[in-house]
Amino acid sequence: MRNNESWEPADKDNSLSEHEKKQMNRGSSGQTKVARIEDSLAPLLEEALELQAELVGLRRHLHRNPELSLEETETSQTVLSVLRELPLDIRTNVGGYGIVADLNGEGEGPTIALRADMDALPIQEETDLPYASEIPGKMHACGHDAHTAILVGAAKLLSRKRDKLSGRVRFLFQCAEEINQGARAMIEDGALDGVDEIYGLHNLPTLAAGKVATRYGALMGSVDRIEVTIEGRGGHGAIPNESIDPIVAASAVVMGLQTAVSREISPFDPAVVTIGSIYGGHANNVIPHRVELTGTVRTFQPRVQEGMEAMLRRLIESICEGYRCKAELRYIRQVPVLVNHDACVTHVEQTLDGLMPIESRIEAAPTMAGEDFSLYVERIPGCFFWIGSGPEENAEQAYGLHHPKFDLNEECLGHGAAALAGIAFSRLL
Ligand SMILES: [Zn+2]
Ligand SMILES: [Zn+2]
Repeated sequence: MRNNESWEPADKDNSLSEHEKKQMNRGSSGQTKVARIEDSLAPLLEEALELQAELVGLRRHLHRNPELSLEETETSQTVLSVLRELPLDIRTNVGGYGIVADLNGEGEGPTIALRADMDALPIQEETDLPYASEIPGKMHACGHDAHTAILVGAAKLLSRKRDKLSGRVRFLFQCAEEINQGARAMIEDGALDGVDEIYGLHNLPTLAAGKVATRYGALMGSVDRIEVTIEGRGGHGAIPNESIDPIVAASAVVMGLQTAVSREISPFDPAVVTIGSIYGGHANNVIPHRVELTGTVRTFQPRVQEGMEAMLRRLIESICEGYRCKAELRYIRQVPVLVNHDACVTHVEQTLDGLMPIESRIEAAPTMAGEDFSLYVERIPGCFFWIGSGPEENAEQAYGLHHPKFDLNEECLGHGAAALAGIAFSRLL
């Protein structure tokens, strides 16, 4: 379903690009482009499922050997060992350990990027899977191992169809998503240069495998980090009048920040301010000199994110002034709201409907969780969507992303590879 704000007619007659018009006219068999796309998508899922065992093997290898953000050396080597067997132009060490691999079709046309992330999390795995993490304290608890295998699968599928492609597919194997650095670094290193559209997916263990969820407009929240230092004057806990107590000021700040959302932002504009850590003092009878707080700020509208820094700064500084303390706020913008582009969502939905039964596709609920894919779609048109990776029954009860018992239904590998390959293929036919 589309939301009202972003409604555009689904009829593509008026919105055909020059490339598409050319392609429609070119059909020598007299077949329309839509019919040719449908014919071509039909066998794609079957071809992807033939790769299933290979993708499972790759995913399990990555799952056993998780690497944290900015450390993805072995992971990228594993990916490269497969990509080098395909007819791709490959750039390595893009924005860290990122990989950019181009598949140049026979004909002229746009460049469509497909993206997967490769990094794991600092979590001790608590599953008893035979292929559980072999690295203490590190785990693929967000399923980026599956995303990587899915994109490798898409690269294999599309490489076989190179002669049918009018344009280029760019495969982006991104590093450091979990710390919100990889997309930015890869963009700065040219990963989006010449790219017309970008598509990506994330697995969702609370959605049954075989299902997909799409959404027009905003899908995921913005992510900003705040760091606050509150400075008072340390002293004896028994003589507070000779000190300036930053713990009391910090307590007031924590409480005061709650009103930032409840009193200053419209109830129709979701926003979250969470203080996640507070450090100050060592002894029970000493007033410390300073207190440090860190927190996260999430919003769902670019204009709300825009106003958060000034609002928090005013609140924090004026509260601390009232308590005779000095406050310093460091406001670090990490990723913007992830806003899908309408025409790209339509394209994804049409492709997915060509690949799987229409009832497999549902409307995604928005989430405040962040994704640095948002940086790509801030620059160029694109669409990010969810692919089910949960059990067939009672998926909503499955462990969620980032849980030490997170597990995914590997059925999603073949489906994901077919979905990404189909999205690029049908755009370049
Ligand atoms: Zn994650
Ligand atoms: Zn993730």
